[in-house]
Amino acid sequence: MRITEIESIILQHDMQEELGFSQGYYDKRTAHLVLVHTDDGLTGIGEIFGAGNFAFANQAILQHVISPRLVGRNPLDINVIWHDIYNTVRDHGQKGMPICCLSGVDIALWDILGKATSQPLHQLLGGRARDDFVAYGYGMMFRKRDDLAEIFEKEVAAIVERGFTASKMKLGLGVDRDIELAEAVRRGAGEGFKLMADVNHAYTVGEAIQLGLALRDLDYYWFEEPVMPEDYDGYRLVRDALPGIHIAGGEAEWTRFGHRELLCRRSVDILQPEVAATGGISEFMKILSMAHAFGTPVIPHVWGSDVLIAVDMHLVSVLPDLPGGLKQFEPMLEYDTTPNLFHERLLTEPLGIFEQVRDNNGRVRPPEGPGIGIALDEDFVAKYRVG
Ligand SMILES: [Mg+2]
Repeated sequence: MRITEIESIILQHDMQEELGFSQGYYDKRTAHLVLVHTDDGLTGIGEIFGAGNFAFANQAILQHVISPRLVGRNPLDINVIWHDIYNTVRDHGQKGMPICCLSGVDIALWDILGKATSQPLHQLLGGRARDDFVAYGYGMMFRKRDDLAEIFEKEVAAIVERGFTASKMKLGLGVDRDIELAEAVRRGAGEGFKLMADVNHAYTVGEAIQLGLALRDLDYYWFEEPVMPEDYDGYRLVRDALPGIHIAGGEAEWTRFGHRELLCRRSVDILQPEVAATGGISEFMKILSMAHAFGTPVIPHVWGSDVLIAVDMHLVSVLPDLPGGLKQFEPMLEYDTTPNLFHERLLTEPLGIFEQVRDNNGRVRPPEGPGIGIALDEDFVAKYRVG
């Protein structure tokens, strides 16, 4: 079997409402898919992290740098191909967009391996450690409105109503405003409901500690990306100052080399690699092994279309118990509940996350078909393709 073509597909749609996080607002959804075609008819599906104009820039890297090295090769040489591409881009980008592109290709190659062997991805990775797991309902993104606290309180109440047993909100509008919003979400969710807060590296160490103390008082479970991803020691200072709330991070970190820093410096309680950015499934599994050597649990960061949701469902299902015993740390699947056409419309057989959550006590199961176990709806893809 040989690779014949790398196809990059950028999908985009306008959003009904602008949504924001601590680094900005956006009004379009983007999904960047990569299809690896082969001469025996199998096609692998992957996705590359990077919205908006980043997707078009990634497309150029894919077409001009990566694709020429792939055509004609055996797609099952996944590890060989990974290191060849990494060596090719190393002098031009050990982090960021070149690695995001490598990630999408790697995911597609694993999909081909699954299709070639008629095995689901979770089986290729050594089997499911759990049949199902909690999906946490992500929401509470910023709107440019004064009544945001009221909106957030209602939004989290609706997430609870849909059957989710955990939820995550955005923060990063200033410590005082954040505390007001976090209090509103705690009110809307109720006591005892599992809540997480994500500030997308909006704060200095001092500000992060101030906010973290308030979040801990409100019984938030984790505090995500408190400080700049480059500030590994700052993470450690925040973590040392905040026993009783988990410090999470890692979505803006790349490959085993980057995650090594977060682990060696004991920067986080929970590591959150993003499979479509950090180096793909191959690198995710290496980072997972390294995290376990440090006794650090992994809960993947998830952001993308149903292609990535499905990939992450497999990944969450195969995470080994840590540390081992009757009482286990439980990984979860991140699921964006805000309106998104690339959820539940992109695939011929929808993942049915909302239905699974409602009918299975907030828990979901990965797809069972070969590879990632998904097929794209060609008409939908054609309708929303912009590049
Ligand atoms: Mg985050």
